[in-house]
Amino acid sequence: MIIGTPKEIFEGEARVAMTPESALQLQKLGYDCMIETGAGEAAGFSDAAYKEVGVTVKKTANALWKDADIIAKVRPPSDEELKRLTKGKTLISFFNPGGNEAGLDAAKAKGANVIAMEMVPRISRAQKMDALSSMANIAGYRAVIEAGNNFGRFFTGQITAAGKVPPAKVLVVGAGVAGLAAIGAATSLGAITYAFDVRPEVAEQVESMGAEFVYLDFEEEQQDGASSGGYASVSSPEFREAQLAKFRELAPDMDIVITTALIPNREAPKLWLEDMVKSMKRGSVIIDLAAEKGGNVEGTVMDEKVVTDNGVTIIGYTDFPSRMAAQSSSLYATNIRHMMTDLTPEKDGQINHNMEDDVIRGATVTFEGEITFPPPPPKVQ
Ligand code: NAD
Repeated sequence: MIIGTPKEIFEGEARVAMTPESALQLQKLGYDCMIETGAGEAAGFSDAAYKEVGVTVKKTANALWKDADIIAKVRPPSDEELKRLTKGKTLISFFNPGGNEAGLDAAKAKGANVIAMEMVPRISRAQKMDALSSMANIAGYRAVIEAGNNFGRFFTGQITAAGKVPPAKVLVVGAGVAGLAAIGAATSLGAITYAFDVRPEVAEQVESMGAEFVYLDFEEEQQDGASSGGYASVSSPEFREAQLAKFRELAPDMDIVITTALIPNREAPKLWLEDMVKSMKRGSVIIDLAAEKGGNVEGTVMDEKVVTDNGVTIIGYTDFPSRMAAQSSSLYATNIRHMMTDLTPEKDGQINHNMEDDVIRGATVTFEGEITFPPPPPKVQ
């Protein structure tokens, strides 16, 4: 079978779902590989680099979609791309199945099988295919780089002949995958880093990375701001008040704030309010990684950088992984390659879409003319 990767058509998207390295591995599974000309260009992979490892380069998207049995891409398919699906073809990409009824209907009508990468169950066995975590890790790291770029000062403290420079103080709100990556990047640049999460069980992880966990003035047994099954849920009003009071106290002292707080299937909680922004020092920077879900910060504008009257920069970009396209393409293409390994147990270049497998079942949103989303809950492994 042929696995093909088209050029992403979403404006500004620089990632690509197949790299020369992943193509080599896919070929070892028995597949022929194909890309659309220029597909890897923005991520730093030339057509020549693909050709060198035996990938066929197609001149047009049409030709690629027609010839490939399996299409691997990054962004959910556009209407135009959905039209190119045909019976029996498999599409592997982000798909946003919860908010993409039209896409599910179109894929079903075409009889195409769709694997949505954001639906890979978060169980240990599937970590190698967990593209959400791969991208969150990059977003967290890149958020710190972006903050540094807009901050205009060192992160690390220095004593120089020209004077003493204090270290920057960074607060990370939400210590999931993105938050932990941000903590790692900020501490490695020498900042004094603080972190907060409603899930107190992450305190140890935060501290092991050299950051200080921010505790609230709450009884210890009440510190749990609400979590279910390892994920956050909505905090009680008392907890929220205690959290906001703590943030209010910290705000004037923080140089950089990176917010990553999300609650599955909900708008992002507003945690950094206008008065906190107003009390920050001129030149401080806020990166709101929750911007796509409405933002954690009052004043965030999605996909924009705004500077407030008191000189605080608030960044609401939602394309951090694409801003590190070489790295994110490598990790995403590896996630796809691992998915293909599980779909090809015989290594014979033939997809074996085993719906008895929890991970494959969980990620499959249309199969043989049926919508198979949402999946049944996975068995614990
Ligand atoms: P996420 O992106 O959904 O949310 C980011 C963080 O925001 C979470 O840590 C959450 O607790 C926190 N948060 C929510 N409301 C908040 C509030 N009011 N104040 C402060 N913080 C708040 O999270 P994620 O990165 O997807 O990770 C969530 C959990 O899933 C973690 O325990 C993570 O280790 C786990 N996980 C497991 C796997 C796996 O087993 N394969 C993979 C990825 C993540």
